[in-house]
Amino acid sequence: MSRARKPDWLKSRPPSGREFAGIRETLREHDLHTVCEEANCPNLGECWSGRGGSDGSGSGGGTATFMLMGDRCSRGCNFCDVRTGGMDALDPDEPENVAEAIAEIGLDYVVLTSVDRDDLPDQGAGHFAETIREIKARHPGILVEVLIPDFQGEERLVRKIIDAEPDVIAHNVETVDRLQYPVRDRRAGYEQSLSVLEQVGRESDIYTKTSVMLGHGEYDHEVYQTLADLRERGVDIVTLGQYLQPSRDHLEVQRYDHPDKYETWRRVAEDELGFLYCASGPMVRSSYKAGELFVDAVLR
Ligand code: SF4
Ligand code: SF4
Repeated sequence: MSRARKPDWLKSRPPSGREFAGIRETLREHDLHTVCEEANCPNLGECWSGRGGSDGSGSGGGTATFMLMGDRCSRGCNFCDVRTGGMDALDPDEPENVAEAIAEIGLDYVVLTSVDRDDLPDQGAGHFAETIREIKARHPGILVEVLIPDFQGEERLVRKIIDAEPDVIAHNVETVDRLQYPVRDRRAGYEQSLSVLEQVGRESDIYTKTSVMLGHGEYDHEVYQTLADLRERGVDIVTLGQYLQPSRDHLEVQRYDHPDKYETWRRVAEDELGFLYCASGPMVRSSYKAGELFVDAVLR
């Protein structure tokens, strides 16, 4: 397929302003990483330009997704800009540092994710769980969404996260079944990811969420099938967004869908398939307006 041309609707606001600089400084002080920066997320200017609403809405921007356990991943997915290999030892102070930084920035809804740590005996599940507990202990009432690895499908490790009682557990299937490879690392997989999400729903009342990128060459019937598979496994929330090629070394974009198409998928997901909500748009990412949408659709 020939390279698709980037359309006008994909322009993003470059990060700027005092609040952006303030968040960045707080992160540096605590030696913390965000997926916003590591993945060059196109929403960085929008998400970091305001602060989480102190009314509990989590709205008004100011959403940041903290990346735990370093900025290097044991896996190498062909769509992802995070560096592979050469992982650092875990920082035992990270759970406390993250909780402190959240207090300083003033977030009401926080998203935590991590690189994959296949190199660690528990793949980092214990560290992840400790961070959730630390945040919840310091900030009763805060809503915590975690975007977790597949933990190679090991149920006892997924259970460590469930036991820490976050409010939302997300795990991304990323793309349709047929395109899992070459899009994802070979250790990931469609069925494995569905099983992780299903386990959370089976063993707890925690909301489940996943994200699908469009633009890798998937057909409409495959997108529909993916949404249907997710609902069948009990997934509550889904986000759909356009894949953007982070560098020449990553997979090329095969197609850019118009925003109207994303709106159609939103209606299919919510009205026909019964997701609690579906955030769908070219610039939508897993954590885009996560707090605002969750509060609006689930808690109100
Ligand atoms: Fe960060 Fe998520 Fe916003 Fe991107 S969409 S800037 S990853 S909070
Ligand atoms: Fe990126 Fe894949 Fe690692 Fe996730 S598992 S951080 S998508 S390389």
